[in-house]
This record gives sequence, structure tokens and C-alpha cells, in this order.
Amino acid sequence: MQQAGLIHPSNPGCYYYLPATVRSMEKLVRVIDQEMQAIGGQKLDMPSLCSADLWRRTERWELMGKELFRLQDRHSADYCLSPTHEEAVTTLVAHQSTLSYRQLPLLLYQVTRKFRDEPKPKLGLLRGREFYMKDMYSFDVSEEAAYGTYESVCEAYTRLFSRLGLRCVQVQADTGNIGGTLSHEFQLPADIGEDKLLVCESCSFSANVETLTSDQTNCPKCNIGTLELSKGIEVGHTFYLGKKYSNIFNAAFSNTQNKPTIAEMGCYGLGVTRILAAAIEVLSTDEEIRWPGLLAPYQVCVLPPKKGSKADDASAIAEDVARGLSGTLAHLKGEVVLDDRIHMTIGKRLKDAKRLGYPYVIVVGQGALEEQPKFEVICQNTGETMFLSKDGLLDLL
Ligand code: ATP
Ligand code: MG
Ligand code: MG
Ligand code: MG
Repeated sequence: MQQAGLIHPSNPGCYYYLPATVRSMEKLVRVIDQEMQAIGGQKLDMPSLCSADLWRRTERWELMGKELFRLQDRHSADYCLSPTHEEAVTTLVAHQSTLSYRQLPLLLYQVTRKFRDEPKPKLGLLRGREFYMKDMYSFDVSEEAAYGTYESVCEAYTRLFSRLGLRCVQVQADTGNIGGTLSHEFQLPADIGEDKLLVCESCSFSANVETLTSDQTNCPKCNIGTLELSKGIEVGHTFYLGKKYSNIFNAAFSNTQNKPTIAEMGCYGLGVTRILAAAIEVLSTDEEIRWPGLLAPYQVCVLPPKKGSKADDASAIAEDVARGLSGTLAHLKGEVVLDDRIHMTIGKRLKDAKRLGYPYVIVVGQGALEEQPKFEVICQNTGETMFLSKDGLLDLL
């Protein structure tokens, strides 16, 4: 991503997200918004600066150790830069004195920067110290209802990854310092992944090795299959929290008898910047970036001929094609780049376009000047090259 000009390093684990990356991230956030809102999620935005008092109440001020970025304000009051928001959101809900069972389940989520002083920030956006996460928190009337919500978030995650065209496995996971009793990770299989997964070859059992006491080879669920070891990148994590946080902060609602009752909670993270980097990692080749179709920063690149070449007259046609595509096809509005660095050969610009991973590259050369104009189209995601008329182009795109 750094070589392709998508990110630029600043401090260890911190990056400038350059314009193409921001476009891609905004697209990812739109898809996430659709999936979270489809299951009743409401978007909010919580402060990144969080008072130590809240974190002391859950004892996580001590438990988090050096991973927590700590600071003091001018009055010497302790704060942290939030690595996650269970304390904050539970306090917020606890302050809603009129919350009724009729308003539950309540699913609140945000997409914000998270801060973690990782011991080993590495692999670009895969493990940063400042990164974007989508974190959702659910509040339910009962354990049963909370399990239902948990299921529906897991289904939404599965839908999200399938829309992105990414193969993802849902594995049993450890609850770590977040706590709770039930937890799953969403893992993208990849050799550079830092998590070790065990997947049963004959039943649906799959788990992060962290959850097993010894490395087992026999499946603990079906007892027949053997467990296959593989590596994955953790892109999402779901937790059933029960009343761990709601008890501490007194996050309650009034039940059918109008009695205050402590809510059942869940929390659900998605590594937004990590998903971008992981998708590029699993889809790309050594020379060319491939994006999930929905996330490519731009969909189409049009290459006019080199200035002074035999096909020079096709320049105006190239501009026309670029304008025509984004004008005619609503989904291509703002998605077409005209690479007008016409002092460079088509070959050089084509190499750049392939490296950046535009799903479609249209070369406007000699063929565009023929009686029946033809355009060369390279479909990056399938590797196909076609020669199409202008109508053919519109049909394809
Ligand atoms: P890891 O095991 O990789 O350190 P985690 O278990 O500490 O991740 P969670 O607390 O479960 O992370 O956070 C939810 C999601 O946020 C993770 O599933 C991951 O996708 C993302 N995430 C966590 N840490 C980072 C990081 N340092 N950089 C980028 N994304 C991260
Ligand atoms: Mg971690
Ligand atoms: Mg983990
Ligand atoms: Mg995790």
C-alpha cells in the first residue's frame, strides 16, 4: 500500500491515509452502515478522550497495562485515548433514565479511531497503534434476547464479507480483557495472519487455538474429524457480555412491571482499516493490487494515447469516453479517472493503472480511430482483455 501511494508512514503504527485510501474506506463504511442499519443499528459518535474514572470502575485502567495510551489534562486528571468503548457507551445508556423495555434491543455503533499502544505495530494498516474500528454495543431485555441479537450481528458480518467477495471463517474465540462468556472471531485465511486456527474437516467446528487448552488433533465437537491448522487475520470479533458492564454502571431499563432491570449486553468490533489491508493482501498479486469490487477507489481508468504518437487524434475521443461513462451510468459518477499524463507511453501508464487495481482500464488507441471504433478493455479482477465498441463498453460497465 505504501509503494502504491495509498498510505504514508508517520510514527510507528500510524499512517497518513492518502486520498485513494480514504475513498475506499468511505465505501467500506457505507457498506458497513447498510449492514448495521439493516439489523437496527443506530450510528453515534463517542469521544476518544475518556476519563480514567470510568476505566477504574471496571478495573481495566490497571488490566490494560501498557497497551492503553494514558495522558493528563491541565488539572492533572487522568485520561486515556480509547482503545474500545464499553465503559463509555454503558455510562451513556445508564444516563437514559427513561429507557423502557419497548425501546430494546438498542444497538448503538460508531466508526472511529481507536488507540492501542501495540507492542509490535507491523504490516502497515494490519496492526496500527491508531486505526479505525466499527464498534457496536447492544442492550437487551433478557439473556435470550441478547443471544438473538448476537446471532443477528454474526449474520450481518457474514453478509458483509460475502458482499465484499472475501472468504471469511467464523471461529470460537477467547474473550480476552473485554470479558463475557461467548465470543467469535471472523478470520480471513492468509499465510501472514497472526492467528492460528483449527478447523474440523468433517463438521462445522472451528476455533482459535487460544481457546483450546492443549493443541488437540481430534475434533472436540464430533470426535471423528481431525483438526486442520491454518492461519488467519482477525477482521472482526463478537462478544456476548451479559451484565458485566451494565451491572457496574447500572445501565438499566424499566421492564413490563415498570421495575428497573439491568440490561444484557453484547459488543461487536470490525477492524475497518485492517479489512482494507487484509482484502488487498488476500486478493492481490505481487505486482498488481486487487480490491473487492465494492471498495476500489475508482472503478474505471481511461488511457488516452501518448502525445505525438500515431493515435494522437484519439485524445478527444478518450475525453469523450470518460465523460460519457460517468455521465450516462449513474453508478460511475465520479468513478472514472482520465489518466492525462500524455507525455508518458500507454505502456507505462497501463502498468501504473494495473498496479493501482482499477477494476476496468480502457485503452484508447489506434482502434478508436477506425471506421467502427474499438476500445481495449482490461478487466483487472478476471484478467480478461476485450475489444469493444462504445455501446459494448456501456453494456459491460
Ligand atoms: P488482535 O488480536 O489482532 O490484537 P484484538 O483481539 O486485540 O486484535 P479486538 O479488541 O477484538 O482486537 O478489536 C476488534 C477488531 O479491531 C479486531 O477484530 C481487529 O479487526 C481490529 N483491530 C484490533 N487491533 C487492531 C490494530 N492494532 N490495528 C488494526 N486493527 C485492529
Ligand atoms: Mg490486540
Ligand atoms: Mg485477537
Ligand atoms: Mg479480538
